Parts: sequence; C-alpha cells; structure tokens
Amino acid sequence: MGKVLIIGAGGVGTVVAHKVAQNPEVFTEIMLASRTKSKCDAIAEAVGGGRIQTAQVDADSVPELVALMKSFQPELVINVALPYQDLTIMDACLECGVNYLDTANYEPVDEAKFEYKWQWAYKDKFEKAGLTAILGCGFDPGVTSIFTAYAAKHHFDEIQYLDIVDCNAGDHGKAFATNFNPEINIREVTQKGKYWENGQWVETEPHEIHKPLNYPNIGPKESYVIYHEELESLVKNFPTIKRARFWMTFGQEYLTHLRVIQNIGMASIEPIMYNGVEIVPIQFLKAVLPNPGDLGENYVGETSIGCRIRGLKDGKERTYYIYNNASHKAAYEETGTQAVSYTTGVPAMIGAMMFFKGLWRKAGVHNVEEFDPDPFMEQLNKQGLPWHELFDVNLEL
Ligand code: NDP
Repeated sequence: MGKVLIIGAGGVGTVVAHKVAQNPEVFTEIMLASRTKSKCDAIAEAVGGGRIQTAQVDADSVPELVALMKSFQPELVINVALPYQDLTIMDACLECGVNYLDTANYEPVDEAKFEYKWQWAYKDKFEKAGLTAILGCGFDPGVTSIFTAYAAKHHFDEIQYLDIVDCNAGDHGKAFATNFNPEINIREVTQKGKYWENGQWVETEPHEIHKPLNYPNIGPKESYVIYHEELESLVKNFPTIKRARFWMTFGQEYLTHLRVIQNIGMASIEPIMYNGVEIVPIQFLKAVLPNPGDLGENYVGETSIGCRIRGLKDGKERTYYIYNNASHKAAYEETGTQAVSYTTGVPAMIGAMMFFKGLWRKAGVHNVEEFDPDPFMEQLNKQGLPWHELFDVNLEL
C-alpha cells in the first residue's frame, strides 16, 4: 500500500520498525533513518526478513532530510526522533510533498516549554500542499486523546471532567532510570504543574497536587498532577470540558533522585564551560544514565494508562473509565524494548496504517482526536494494546 520513512532509532523507533514490518500488506517499503546508522542496522537485523532499508540522517538539517526524502520518495514520515526535530522534518516534508506523523510536540532546545503553537502554525502550509500532518500519535499524547474522542462519540453527549491517569508499576531494578529519552523526560516532569479549569489554565508547583489512585490489576499508587501536552489540544477540540488534568505515578525513590538532580544543577539546560568544552548538564546526565532502550531485559510489572471521564448522557450524569494495561515482559519478548517504548510505538504504527488505508487523510495539521477513533480502536486490540471499559464506577477524582 505505501512507502514509509521512520526517523529515529531509539526505543520507540525500535517498536515502530517491528510493528511496521509485521504489517506488510500496509507498509510495502520501509526505511529507517537516524543520526547513528549502526543503530538502524541493528534494529533492521533484529526485525529480520531483509525488509528494512537503513540510512544516516541529521534530522536537524533540512537539506539532509530533503536529499533522503527525494531519493527514497516515501509517502509518509513517522517522526520518532526527538521533539527538537519536529519542525525541520515538517519543513522537509513540505519541500518534498511527503505526509507527516509524530508522537511528541515541538520543543525548542533552549527552552523547556512544550506547546502546539509552533506546529499548529504549519496548518495553512500543509493545507495548501494537500498534505496530512498527524500530531501526537503515541500513547499519551495519542491513545489517551483517541480514548477521549471515542468516549465523546459513543458514550457522552457532553464530556465535563477529564482525568488522564498514567501509571507505570514496572520495576527495572535500577536505582534511577527514565523510561524514554532522559533529557525529554526530566524536562517534562520537573516543570510546573498545570491543568485546565473553567476556561483557564491553573498553574501549580511541580508535584504539588497528589493522591493515591487505584489502577486495575495494580492497586493504589501515589499519582501527581503534571502538565502534559494533550491537554492543550483536548480542551480546544472538546470545549464542553470544565476541568482536564493529567496524573502520573512516581515512586519516592524516583522523586528523591529527581530532587537531587535538580538541586545540584544537573537538570539545567543552560550550557556551561567544562575543561574548555561547552556542555549542557542535562545532556551530560543523559550520557551517564541507563539507556531507556536497554531497560527491557529484566523489567517486570505493567503500565496502566487511561482516561477517567465524567459527563452527561441523555441528561444524566455518567462516569466512564477506559484504559490499557501493558506488560513490560511481553513488550520485551516481542520487540526487545520495555512497555513505555511499546505503548508509544504501536500507536504510531497504527496512525500510519490509518493514513495508508485512507481513513485518516485530511490536508492540514491535525491532532489525533480530530480523526475517526473507531478504526484505530479496532487496531489497538489487534496490534497488542487491548483496551477495557468500565461504566458508572467510582473515579476517585
Ligand atoms: P531515544 O532517545 O531512545 O531515541 C531518539 C532517537 O532519535 C535516537 O535514535 C537518536 O539518535 C535520534 N535522533 C536524535 N537527534 C537526532 C537528529 N538530529 N537526527 C537524527 N536522529 C536523531 O528516544 P525514545 O525512542 O524514547 O523517544 C522517541 C520520541 O518519542 C521522543 O520524541 C519522545 O518524546 C516520544 N515519546 C512519546 C510518547 C508518547 O506517548 N506520546 C512516550 C514516550 C516517548 P542517536 O541514537 O544517534 O542518539
């Protein structure tokens, strides 16, 4: 059906490559390109079957991306490099007439602030070029936004309260490690909290609001309100929402390490001089922390991510909880990565499948909740991320 170019050969890129290769009727030709070609080669070999071509590319360079796209001529790029590369990849797509999909919104390297304004500004350009850009197609953002769209389509006339709950109850046996790119992860969890209430954003100190929440098959875990990017598009696309929050679980040990990292300045994004060389502390820290892609081998336990929703159906109040639990061990057995990479890479592949099947094609720049959730939800069940629904339950929130 189509030619796909995957950019980024980290944990998520590994899963995308495996899953794309598992669906040959949709993805007829596959190229995996990243900064370090040897990583692409290793993934292609692990997938096997000689189906994946590889290439080296610096995705910060539009001319390099353009040269690669012109020679391979993909119909769609799946961007699973870092958020810093979103705009250069979108520029190259426009220049070459290629459609675009990613899992994380653009962040400038020198400002730890993620918001959609930079990518939404490309709307007219993609519309005029007749190209589709699908933003935020991982798990959160991604599946959580599609869960919300599915709830709005099938179970609610009006969604009023949305709480996205993200629990990782896994144990990788390390004192401290992040489950995806450490730089992006630490930037995300150390910033101030923010949630939407009555038409405006309410800011909190980092980790100020917290409470134990019960997760299916896991039990109670302390959960913290943090800001997460899908809130921005969801409150725009579902204007009946009165309050939208994002909760994430953290262990005490993890938070203690984070506090120390911040207190000693290792989370800083300001460059410093060290022995005559300019280094960015958080980038140096990334170099000494465990590689998230290597955590899988002894990782046990599950993730549980879902949406807890309160709203109106036929004039009556209703509560609804939709979630997926994913096992680190099962993810490792299938793809050699842990469940956080798995739960991001599988939806990215499904979004690309929706595009190639012609189900999610709309010129412009769109967040995933703007598309029909039904065919995507069907594929989640088939591609390794089954979901469950609970009606009229105590949401604890
Ligand atoms: P990794 O750090 O493991 O992988 C990133 C990959 O991108 C690496 O292969 C890296 O190359 C490559 N890369 C970085 N800079 C460049 C560049 N300039 N040119 C070419 N390639 C480059 O990250 P993850 O796989 O954990 O995460 C990938 C993306 O997924 C991130 O954007 C992350 O924010 C997002 N994500 C989204 C989630 C969701 O649910 N929506 C959840 C988790 C992650 P090299 O190997 O040389 O370093």
